Amino acid sequence: MNLILFGAPGAGKGTQANFIAKKFNLYQLSTGDILRNEIKNKTTIGKKIDLIINQGDFVTDNIINELLKKVISNPSYRNRIIFDGYPRNIEQAENLELMLNSDNQSINFIFFLKVSKKIIEKRILGRITCEKCKKIFNVYSDKKEVEKHECGVKYLKKRKDDNEDVLITRYDEYMKKTKPVLDFYSSRSYFHEIDGSSEIEVITNKIEQILTV
Ligand code: AMP
Repeated sequence: MNLILFGAPGAGKGTQANFIAKKFNLYQLSTGDILRNEIKNKTTIGKKIDLIINQGDFVTDNIINELLKKVISNPSYRNRIIFDGYPRNIEQAENLELMLNSDNQSINFIFFLKVSKKIIEKRILGRITCEKCKKIFNVYSDKKEVEKHECGVKYLKKRKDDNEDVLITRYDEYMKKTKPVLDFYSSRSYFHEIDGSSEIEVITNKIEQILTV
């Protein structure tokens, strides 16, 4: 199965994708992670996009679609992809269908994690991610978990774009470009809206229940 985790920045897409990928042996395709890797490895693309991401703008569809094509056409990820952070606009949503169709694949589940702006701010400003296992924590609410994280505290890093200034642009971009994608998907039988403000395990359980029916 292929599934999409949809929602604003900070809605919990990465956190849920991480759990579900492990549980169902799926591949977490986070476009944000792929892009950050390009920056870290100082590739040609990485040099182009560093400023864009750290201003909170969207990377061009051409760059994103090229990166995505490589993953979708990779036989080891076939029919086991969690799309996390993609599609982010209508053009990307249309392109995803084309790419999957031409490879005889489809989307089987879409989960929309709905959260308020207030919660988003709290989550993003406190977010730290383990560079090794990709697990996400909040410095304010997960103090104990942070201290005893199995990979070691030194791998826990705050993202450069997780600050108040950049968040304003990222949220605006979401409202303007990404939210309209909801209309594209919401009438489909496999679209599920989930209260993203619930506890992490509650959300994971809900998603698991739907995936195992
Ligand atoms: P994320 O890790 O999903 O929060 O993404 C971090 C940043 O990467 C975003 O603010 C964008 O600048 C860029 N990005 C990630 N996914 C996409 C996408 N599908 N389209 C355009 N830009 C993206």
